[in-house]
Amino acid sequence: MSELAVIWDDRFTDYRLGPDHPFTPESRKLAVELFRATVASGEVPVTWIDRVEPASREALASFHRPEYLDFVDAASRAEVPPLLDGGDTPAFPGCYASAARVVAGTERGLESVLAEGRPAFHPAGGFHHARPDRASGFCIFNDVAIAVGRLARAGRRVAYIDIDAHHGDGVMYGFYDSGRVLDIDFHQDGRTLFPGTGYTGETGRGDGAGLKVNVPFPPGSGDAELTTVFGRVVPPLLRSFRPEVIVLQHGVDGHVGDPLTALQYTTRGYDEVDRTILALAREVSVGRLLVTGGGGYDAASVSRVLARTALTLSGRPLPMAGDPLPEPWRADFWERCGTQAPATWGEGPAPERRTAGPERIDKLVLELEEELGQKFPRPDQ
Ligand SMILES: [Zn+2]
Repeated sequence: MSELAVIWDDRFTDYRLGPDHPFTPESRKLAVELFRATVASGEVPVTWIDRVEPASREALASFHRPEYLDFVDAASRAEVPPLLDGGDTPAFPGCYASAARVVAGTERGLESVLAEGRPAFHPAGGFHHARPDRASGFCIFNDVAIAVGRLARAGRRVAYIDIDAHHGDGVMYGFYDSGRVLDIDFHQDGRTLFPGTGYTGETGRGDGAGLKVNVPFPPGSGDAELTTVFGRVVPPLLRSFRPEVIVLQHGVDGHVGDPLTALQYTTRGYDEVDRTILALAREVSVGRLLVTGGGGYDAASVSRVLARTALTLSGRPLPMAGDPLPEPWRADFWERCGTQAPATWGEGPAPERRTAGPERIDKLVLELEEELGQKFPRPDQ
């Protein structure tokens, strides 16, 4: 059996919000192709799920309002496609089917995870901002919320973890009352970035009280902040909640190269998060781990980070930061993006930067401890 299922249908690249829009499916395609080129000669096969038909209206309606589905359907066929929200998310011809196909990819990933007990990776998924009644932040249908809801309705405990630079508001508020959904979200402080939510005091309500965990990082935070807080908070929360499935929204817009945010993660930080979550999924959830993509607006960052994530999930060794990227892939990058491809697998030496400092990390963890009434000791304590 393969170690990993990858969900990729080339029609995922139909999700195009326009030539000048920061979101492009090309960088996800490049991540998949880089992974494919790297594992081509491997001994352990990867399972490719490469024909994905759009999700049913019933599946979409499990999270979205019928009036909103009608609105997107009409916009999808309009001669002049309207905006689907206040300004960030334009409709485009066929947008209903494109967004529904992404949702189906997440469903297929989930089914694979449940049947096989090994990770699945859906780099085109992770549209975490969409709300039941509206599009938001480039997201038309909330594929991750639909998957989480399906598990929760089936009576399963699910942990949703989100490392996108933006707060995963659509998912968190969608399950704010649910005792079946543990939601842990690392993001840039909402006072400095869209959507302006995700404060430490937002801890859930009713049955969900204490199960929503928000980690807002100040602008400038990087690998030290991400890996330290992730390492202190996620393992104890997962060990006590014992989810049957873990869903990780792996947005890459916290990368230092991203033009839309002010975080400074690098491949080193992402690699560590990937290793940690894979080990935890094996420990607490019998390997049931679904990883989706998410935001990410710099093709060089998105393609390398997501390809590395796929390598980690498939149990393969990671290339060194200075290892060269394959030339045919670099030519493809140039074709698709019109910009110079990166030359190597990593960013080179970490950029000089001001760090938040260990005191600031301690202060943030202390704030979480107070809000959640739970201790997150340092591993050495
Ligand atoms: Zn984002």
